[in-house]
Order: sequence, then C-alpha cells, then structure tokens
Amino acid sequence: MKFQVITLFPSMFDSYLKESIIGRAITDKKISVKFYNPRDYTENKWGRVDGRPYGGGPGMVMEAQPILTAIGKARGKKKTKVIIFSPAGKKLTNEYARNLLKKNKEIILVSGRYEGIDGRVKKILKAEEVSIGDYVLTGGELPSMVLIDTVSRQIKGVLNTFDSVEENRISSSEVYTRPEILKYKGKNYKVPKVLLSGHQANIEKWKKGE
Ligand code: SAH
Repeated sequence: MKFQVITLFPSMFDSYLKESIIGRAITDKKISVKFYNPRDYTENKWGRVDGRPYGGGPGMVMEAQPILTAIGKARGKKKTKVIIFSPAGKKLTNEYARNLLKKNKEIILVSGRYEGIDGRVKKILKAEEVSIGDYVLTGGELPSMVLIDTVSRQIKGVLNTFDSVEENRISSSEVYTRPEILKYKGKNYKVPKVLLSGHQANIEKWKKGE
C-alpha cells in the first residue's frame, strides 16, 4: 500500500515511521509513505496556506488551492482515493481499514490544521471524511498515522505472525508474560492458572471471557 500524505508538517511523522513494526514494513517495502506539503505549492508569493473564515468565527481555514495542487501532484493521472480527516467524518474502524486495503493500492490522506480545510476541496475531489474518534485534535497528522498503522498491520507479513491480526484468532485484551509470579511492594501477583494448564480448549474459553 502506498500512502500519500498531504501535510504542512511532514517531520511530525519521522520517528513514528522509522521505528518498530511500521519502520520495518517500510524497509520491507510492504508499505511506502510519501509527503506533499501544501506550502510548496502555493501560488501566492508569500507562501500563504490559510485565510480568515468567510462568515466570521475564530481561527484560520486552510486554502483550497495549495491543497488541490499538492493532491494533483500526488495523484498524477490516477484517480487515487482521497481521505480528508475531520472530527465530523465517518468513524475509522478495523473494518473500514480492511476495506481500504482490499479496494486500493494507493490512498491520499489529507491532514487538516487550524479550523479545517476549505469545504470546496471535499466537493471537488468527492473525498471521504474520516474521523478517528469523538474528540478534537490540533491537526490531521495523528489521524494520518493512526490510519497508516491500522491499515498496515492488516497487510500480510507486516506483523511477525499474521496470526497476531485479531480477526484471525480468538484475541484477549488481557495478556501475560514472565515471570510466573510478580513480586511488587511485598505482594505476589500470579498469572491466571488456566494459562499455565496447557489445556488449549480451556485457554480459548478463558480468552473469550467465558
Ligand atoms: N473546528 C473544526 C476542528 C478542526 S481540528 C471542526 O469542528 O471540524 C483541525 C484538524 O484536525 C481537522 O481539520 C482534522 O484534519 C484534524 N482532526 C482533529 N480531530 C480529528 C479527529 N477526531 N479525527 C480526524 N481528524 C481530526
């Protein structure tokens, strides 16, 4: 999967994309991430990317032109799907991520800033708005990273064992590792007995919360 990210702040992604599982997915060429900064595509000589909102109100709005030009560069002649992050968008879920992966080889992720993006961008590109949850962040960079992460871990070979993808197994949010007895402030904390029993059927039952 090729992710093309439209952002005013590409360096915010640096360490996240370099480390651990996502870092390895990039080295192994399972995914690639490319950045387009609207600031590089402004047609005014001041490099301005935002303006006051029509109709009044607080804050600034990202201008359409630099974003549309940046997306044009990313798309080339292709009709790549465009996602615009917005707290009012469709909720990102594992199922949504899986569908994206099934239907696209490339996606363009538009990270908003300030009060958001001029509404005409969405209309012109017939873009889908996606939210990562019912809270408001300062920008779309974290949502972009969240989407990249959740889509990437569904790609075969990204996780060490594909079995780690929740949908392929019975998963539990409660997990344990060594030591068998953890000593903390004078008390002993044990691993649930069933996990040490070797009785696979009972273990699966326990994981399902039965
Ligand atoms: N006043 C705007 C909020 C702007 S927040 C409104 O009510 O919609 C600035 C940018 O951060 C948004 O354009 C969006 O790209 C991003 N953002 C903030 N919270 C988000 C969320 N929960 N999900 C997805 N994107 C979000």
